[in-house]
Formats: sequence, C-alpha cells, structure tokens
Amino acid sequence: MGAGTAGYAGRGEVQRWWWRVSGRERPRTNGALDHAGAEWVAASSANWRRASRPDDYGVDRVVVHVVQGSYSDALRVFRDPLHEAAAHYVVRKDGHIAQTVRELDVAFHSGNRAFNERSIGIEHEGYVDRPAGFTDAMYTASARLTAGICARYKIPVDRTHIVAHSEVPGTDHTDPGPHWDWDRYLRLVREAAAS
Ligand SMILES: [Zn+2]
Repeated sequence: MGAGTAGYAGRGEVQRWWWRVSGRERPRTNGALDHAGAEWVAASSANWRRASRPDDYGVDRVVVHVVQGSYSDALRVFRDPLHEAAAHYVVRKDGHIAQTVRELDVAFHSGNRAFNERSIGIEHEGYVDRPAGFTDAMYTASARLTAGICARYKIPVDRTHIVAHSEVPGTDHTDPGPHWDWDRYLRLVREAAAS
C-alpha cells in the first residue's frame, strides 16, 4: 500500500512552481486516461498533488505494490481524503485496471516524496503472502500497463527502473513481497513492449 509524503526539501522547487503559475501547465481533461482500456475511478485530491510531469519532474521509475486487500478496498481508501495515499493504478485479479490518479500528477504511494515525484505507482489486488492471488490475468494486464508507461517516458525495462515498494529508500513497507515473480513480470513487460 502507499504511504504518505516523507519530508523532502526539493531542489528546483522554484522552477516547478513556475510551471504552475506560468500558464504552461500541461493541458488536461477531467476523466481522461493515460492507459487505454482503464476505468477512471478518481482518488481523493488529498491523496495526490497536482503537477505537470514530465515537464516539472522527470518520470523514470515504476513502483509495484500489493494492496494487502481487495481491488475495492484499494479504491475505497484512495477515495478517502484522510487516507493520505493513493497510487496511479489498481490492477484487479481478472486484469481489469482502474486509473485513480493521472500520470502527470504526483501520487502519494511510496512513502518517499522524491520517489513519488519521479514514479508511477501500480497497486495489485491481493496479499503479499498469498501468491495464488497473483493471477496470469493480473501479471499480463499489469505488464501491458508498465510497458506503456516505460514507452511514454522512455524508461528502461529493468529492475533498476521497475521496483518494489519495499525497495524504495526509507519505506517500511514489504510489498509486493517475495512471491512476486519478477523474472516473469519483466519478461511479460518486454513482450508487451515488443508487440
Ligand atoms: Zn505499497
């Protein structure tokens, strides 16, 4: 699951602020999607920060999460303004994907402000200790999503750039855990990228 915003006195805040006040924000349409076929289920605006990525922050990481709960649990807490966290996407066991935060905005999902600013967060329905819940449909749909993200921002498809929440500096979260099949996932992302 996501965790709030850790303190971070960012460099370049002035330049980033300039994107906001200069009238040069990236155009956006309410309800527009970054991933074709996803369902838009807006997270509470308290759980993300408006930005103009990749103009104000470069995007070079994808962070893989597991909900520790169901798809609907994730959507429910993301809509809760008191939750202080949301990812950009939630993938259901059957491969259905909800987009909950636009990719140009900074979602509070990794517990590390600098990492949130540079990353897209993907939640997966299920539990770290129940690998049977990580279905073929989920891996395939998620890999297609990650392949699209990597293509949009020219992110290399490797374990340096596609990371576990547990690998984000400073986090105390353990997801997606030891049962997430990284070799399989990266292979599926590469296959999706090539198709
Ligand atoms: Zn997580």
